[in-house]
Amino acid sequence: MDGQFGWSLYLHIPFCATRCTYCAFNTYTDRHALLDEYVRALCAEIASFGALNRSIHTIYLGGGTPSLLRPFQLEQIISHVLINFTYSPILEITQELNPRDATEEYLHAIRKYVSRISLGMQSVNSSELQMFSRDHEHSHVIQAMKYARQAGFDNINLDLIYGTPSQALDMWRDSLQAALDLDPDHLSAYALSLENGTELKRRVTYKELPLPDPDLAADMYELASEMMEKAGFIQYEISNWAKPGKECLHNIQYWKNLPYLGMGAGAHGYVNQTRTVNVMKPEIYIERLKNPPPNPLPFPQTPATMTSEPIDRQTDMFETIFTGLRLLNEGLSLTAFEQRYGEKLDIKFADEIKRLTRLGLLWQDGDALKLTKSARLISNRVFQEFAIEEEA
Ligand code: SF4
Repeated sequence: MDGQFGWSLYLHIPFCATRCTYCAFNTYTDRHALLDEYVRALCAEIASFGALNRSIHTIYLGGGTPSLLRPFQLEQIISHVLINFTYSPILEITQELNPRDATEEYLHAIRKYVSRISLGMQSVNSSELQMFSRDHEHSHVIQAMKYARQAGFDNINLDLIYGTPSQALDMWRDSLQAALDLDPDHLSAYALSLENGTELKRRVTYKELPLPDPDLAADMYELASEMMEKAGFIQYEISNWAKPGKECLHNIQYWKNLPYLGMGAGAHGYVNQTRTVNVMKPEIYIERLKNPPPNPLPFPQTPATMTSEPIDRQTDMFETIFTGLRLLNEGLSLTAFEQRYGEKLDIKFADEIKRLTRLGLLWQDGDALKLTKSARLISNRVFQEFAIEEEA
């Protein structure tokens, strides 16, 4: 299956200046001194396969805070990818940026290597930014947008969060409007998830902050859909909106359940029907790459691999359904499913599809199976219906 598709490459930079109160990502605020060594290790991991004659069509630098990388480090990383992989003509290189790091000088310097940037705006409201312990203010986002356009970026995403403690619908409207006023090419809006171990979860648990109201969060989601649609954005994925032609190709790779390599501390990968997870701690990651095992590891493992797990056909099939249905416009292609698995989706899951269609949660649009508008808010329940089949 992997032979038919270009691959994507995720590169993780696990360092942040401060930890946001909602963050459960694999990132560290006390290890910046390791950055140089970490970049060397990341380059070594990229090179660890030898020259793979594989086409990479998207690269995503996520974190953590990839804008902590200095431009020469970014160049080192990208040039290692160029040496070790080949390219198909469609190429997207995204870098996540903290708005505070996105200075005029920095944006001009990275423009050579990066085609798309993603800015963590989160909210326009300064009390919310403080509650999140974000180390930026909205003025940084405004400046970053201006400098990014001047540097020639024509593909810019803004990230927003809704459904947060104490957030009123009007506050969310203000954030949406402030984001739209900046005329981005892409917007991601994610409902806050109170993850175990985070400061925000602790504060909500100890009643220092109110528990977010899920009904209000649903209203916020509807409002986002309305406002973005009016502004000319297409909701191409449950939580993502883009101007036509500005959809994130890298994330579409995930939603189509297509292969990607994950490199860096804690990065996940999925190629050759195998899921890999790398060691989490940067110092262990560096150590593993400094002292690789003498004999080559079976592909797709690298010296940093912590677990490598084959994915059986059934699981792969379910994951293709869950992720594919997230693509609201494109939906899940019946033909592509059959070509991939040699089974017809509408026969294998005939009962589930009939039941969900009767409930007004799914509909068939030509060759594609799609979520209806009312299913968007309860998409996980819809996906679950397909998983029940396996357990029966
Ligand atoms: S910037 Fe991102 S990765 Fe870093 S602490 Fe905040 S949410 Fe987590």
